[in-house]
Amino acid sequence: MRVGFVGLGAMGMHMARNLHRGGLLAAVWNRTGEKARALASELSVQAPPTLADLASSVDAVVTCVSADADILEVVQQLAPNLRSGALVLDSSTVGAETARKSAELLKPRGVEFLDCPVSGGTEGARDATLAIMVGGNEEAFERAKPILAAMGKAVTHFGPTGSGQAAKATNQIMCAGIIEAVSEAMAFARAQGLPLEKLIDTLGKGAGSSWYFVHRAPNMVRGTFPAGFRVRLHEKDLTICRDMAARFGVTLPVVERMLGEYAELVARGYGDEDISSTFRLKAELFDHTHETNYDSK
Ligand code: NDP
Repeated sequence: MRVGFVGLGAMGMHMARNLHRGGLLAAVWNRTGEKARALASELSVQAPPTLADLASSVDAVVTCVSADADILEVVQQLAPNLRSGALVLDSSTVGAETARKSAELLKPRGVEFLDCPVSGGTEGARDATLAIMVGGNEEAFERAKPILAAMGKAVTHFGPTGSGQAAKATNQIMCAGIIEAVSEAMAFARAQGLPLEKLIDTLGKGAGSSWYFVHRAPNMVRGTFPAGFRVRLHEKDLTICRDMAARFGVTLPVVERMLGEYAELVARGYGDEDISSTFRLKAELFDHTHETNYDSK
């Protein structure tokens, strides 16, 4: 199977490399073309100039772009040139409704769409250990398995189109609560004068531990928050969660609180930092000032 990859960002760059390791990658495309040309030359794969050119040269396309409007734009450009029976696997985090729209755009071409959002951070993307949540036709899922297995470890089909995104939205609500708790706890620990590296090492093995504590609490000790998972992206995901809950007439407190904190971080110019920069706000609770030692600007 010849696979094309679209969207060579923090996640996509690693995922494309893993497809190459699995012997599946035939071509790459990125909006900022230089990234695609550099990777293509390193891996000896094609870097077609347009999405239409990429579409006509592959059996499947994996996409990993930012948000809802971006994937719809990409799918629209791919659709006319994909062959009947081709697969489009979208690993971006977008709304379930956007997944359904993408599937509708591809259906007249005889192309199957699977929503395949991922979890596990840039480390999971690099190590091919992503959890992948899939929605869409089961037969298409069976055909897509070798592609998904090259990028992730826990690959699960949840049901019809959109259910992968619904599972991912569930995960994003958990991430909000956990990063909030980790940031608050670390600000508290620092104020207590505890040796923070020792603390991470010990509590990392305790009942309150989590992936975020082990992998992102060290950012809080160093006072640098490189992306990672950008504040703006998680803000986008939580807006999706807010909209999905609103359909039930429900407002989710964890989601609303985190969106408030992200709005504050974006307003202060930290939108492209990793979400562990929530620590900036928590540290201020103890500093009694708006200026912290963690201002890297
Ligand atoms: P980045 O911002 O690093 O990369 C985004 C990529 O999408 C870039 O290649 C960008 O191209 C491309 N892109 C954006 N808009 C368009 C468009 N309109 N048309 C074509 N290409 C476009 O994001 P990440 O890699 O971090 O995230 C990608 C997706 O994965 C997001 O939906 C995110 O929510 C999700 N995700 C991210 C995780 C993380 O830890 N970072 C974890 C799990 C999921 P260009 O280079 O030109 O800007």
